[in-house]
Amino acid sequence: MKLGTKLIHAGVSPDPSTGAIMTPIFQTSTYVQSAPGVHHGYEYARTQNPTRDALQQALAAIENGKFGICFGSGLAATDGVLKLLQPGDEVIASNDLYGGTYRIFTKIFQRYGIKFHFVSMKDAQNLRNYVNAHTKMIWIETPTNPLLNIIDISACAQIANEHQLLLAVDNTFASPYLQNPLDLGAHIVVHSATKYIGGHSDVVHGAVIVKDEDLARQLYFIQNSCGAVPGPQDCFLVLRGLKTLHVRMQRHCENGMAVAQYLRHHAKVDKVYWCGFEDHPNHDIAKRQMRGFGGMISFTLKDDRLEAAQQVLSSTHLFSLAESLGGVESLIGHPASMTHAAIPREERVQNGLVDSLIRLSVGIEDASDLIEDLNKAIG
Ligand SMILES: *Cc1c(COP(=O)(O)O)cnc(C)c1O
Repeated sequence: MKLGTKLIHAGVSPDPSTGAIMTPIFQTSTYVQSAPGVHHGYEYARTQNPTRDALQQALAAIENGKFGICFGSGLAATDGVLKLLQPGDEVIASNDLYGGTYRIFTKIFQRYGIKFHFVSMKDAQNLRNYVNAHTKMIWIETPTNPLLNIIDISACAQIANEHQLLLAVDNTFASPYLQNPLDLGAHIVVHSATKYIGGHSDVVHGAVIVKDEDLARQLYFIQNSCGAVPGPQDCFLVLRGLKTLHVRMQRHCENGMAVAQYLRHHAKVDKVYWCGFEDHPNHDIAKRQMRGFGGMISFTLKDDRLEAAQQVLSSTHLFSLAESLGGVESLIGHPASMTHAAIPREERVQNGLVDSLIRLSVGIEDASDLIEDLNKAIG
């Protein structure tokens, strides 16, 4: 089955009691047993919920995995994956991560004795320099947020397999429409379904997808033991969002390309970060591992003062100034003061995340209106 069909049909079937075509929202905390231990496979809703089950199966199918494990947010999903580790273990992570991921690694898990190395992976071979006897996991995001760097997933998987490490890929930016890391050798895929998968800026949700049964067993155990589970209403919203992922992503890609080209030719714009440009440093890898380049774009102005960026950020009308990304409506953001404020300034600037950097999540409105909006704001 191809992706568009899976997005609509995987994991779901008409409700047996009514024929309802849409998976019901099973808003219940418990399930009645006819005798002790005699039940329909559902005992308590932290452990199992039919709405969540349908979504977990759908997500597993669209990432070409076998098991989906849902969480209350993308960060709760990350938290679940990190709990596979023990004190003393080490993680090699890319140095250009979502700010909240950096925060949970350094401010939470480091306190529990897990060590993190944040390293450049523009050349994946660099991570070999950090592998030692304690290394257990490689954690990457590609394309990265907000600089749209591309990391070679297959190359990371090869290094992971040579050293028996787990390779976890945060696939939020690409979405399963553009990239399937498990097919490239990754062991774990993480999503903030808050973004493209949900797609309508109306839910916070996270998911982990794996192929390996033993890994899945551990993750279900963590999901149930730690309890960061999503509610059934949120699972329903994500299931509904999924059904149009392919159609939305097609338009995000088209609009992304139009806006990226426009910015590139604007006299006041300095750098434009978008992995679809042929001169993007890892464009060849992007072409190999992705089916399109998406709608995330970052850029800087030639006037590199913070005030110049602030002027643009507060002058758009269709692009709303807000955190988050991946919804149908276009958003504009300022990583240094918003999504990435949790990263110390020196570290940020060193990695190219300067104060004048502006990030766009290009939505699925008409591209000409979006370009006109930016044109008025940039001047
Ligand atoms: C938003 C985001 C997260 C965190 O997800 P939440 O649902 O907000 O907890 C993780 N990774 C990336 C790349 C994100 O954009």
